[in-house]
Amino acid sequence: METTHEHDASPVGRGNREGAALFREWFDQLTQAAEAGRGGAYVFVMGSLAELLRTFDLPLVFPEINSLQTAVRHVAHEYLNQAEDYGYSPDICGYVKADVATQLRRGALPMGRIPKPAIAVYTNACNTYIKWAEIWERMYGCPIVTLDVPGSRYAGHRPGPGDPGFENDRRYVAAQIRELIPVLETVSGVRFDIDRLRESLRQANALSLGWQRVLELNRSRPAPFNALSDGTIFLGVANAYRGLASGADYVDRLVEEMEFKRERGIGTATAEAYRLLFVGVPCYPLFRRFSEMFSELGGNFVHSTYLWFASGGANTGYQAPLADPIEGLAESLLVSVRDAMDSMFFHTQPLLTMARDFAADGVVYHPIKSCRTVSTGLADSRRALMEAADLPSLFIESDMMDRRVVSEAQLKNRIDAFFEGLASRRQQAAIAT
Ligand code: SF4
Repeated sequence: METTHEHDASPVGRGNREGAALFREWFDQLTQAAEAGRGGAYVFVMGSLAELLRTFDLPLVFPEINSLQTAVRHVAHEYLNQAEDYGYSPDICGYVKADVATQLRRGALPMGRIPKPAIAVYTNACNTYIKWAEIWERMYGCPIVTLDVPGSRYAGHRPGPGDPGFENDRRYVAAQIRELIPVLETVSGVRFDIDRLRESLRQANALSLGWQRVLELNRSRPAPFNALSDGTIFLGVANAYRGLASGADYVDRLVEEMEFKRERGIGTATAEAYRLLFVGVPCYPLFRRFSEMFSELGGNFVHSTYLWFASGGANTGYQAPLADPIEGLAESLLVSVRDAMDSMFFHTQPLLTMARDFAADGVVYHPIKSCRTVSTGLADSRRALMEAADLPSLFIESDMMDRRVVSEAQLKNRIDAFFEGLASRRQQAAIAT
């Protein structure tokens, strides 16, 4: 990527272009690893431990990202059907089923081929992670390692370094990382190098700082990017390249692009009449079209809980201490996974703060059939939000993978009605003043 940097006349649109190129590069590397018969480290976006795993030269495979790509590329149904024919229930997480079919196809995906798992490392951020990894254990006999990360004890309870409870939790996580390291040495044949870990933590710190800034820049009016369509692409690259200099560089250049747009009042392609927040997981089977149904009516997603819980903690801008990299990584994992879990279980107050900071006109809740972890409780959360603030909201159900339960016509009807409500509310406010 570096070679093209100096030649860019305007940075507008660069994040999308470079993101697509980095994605291709990443998949090419995975395909090469698969063709060479190498195994990969299977990880998840919430608490990927990419910083540590990279130091063992293990290709990183993010099954969630692979699965959602099948939906974006309109072939998810083929994968889902194959997994259901194999015996998996229509009710379970669609990402799991797309991955099962991928494994049955020896790693074949529309973007290339992924290596089989040499190890799976994951946290308890989603209970599905644990059962999903057991599938790989059964299929390949590979080691699977669960890191138990203690969550927040109650809403709004956010102790940090120095607090005795936090320090206990950090030590608990650090002990698990110390147990994981010899397993990684055995699997990879590479000796642990603490200086490499320090360096990848440094790069993850730089990426987090940049990511937090990218999100903040969308407070401007008009917002420089759409948090749902553009933001999800930026997020995928930030996850896949976490811990690498190229990842930190990508996000730095994203900051530069968004600052450039903000200074010149450049927003997204369509005029921004209504600023919206998105809660949940995107509708990947209609990825572009879903955002368009809002932008055609002047709605722009200025932020989303997805860019929060699926960013591996980068949204917090958290800086891991580097003096003792294992303790620093433990602290980083604790802070980031806890933050991601809070975004699912305790998001009402942060959502109200987000609505204020981003001057939101409305909130769109998108519960989906096949991710209960994120969708359960959204109806209650919406009720709590409505009691706490006079903020219009829309509740639309579909799926992140399964086009059989996604009806564009039904979504469009509900979205149109929501915008009629937003417009009449604005009219009434104008009359009242
Ligand atoms: S249930 Fe939801 S959070 Fe868990 S793996 Fe599936 S999509 Fe991800």
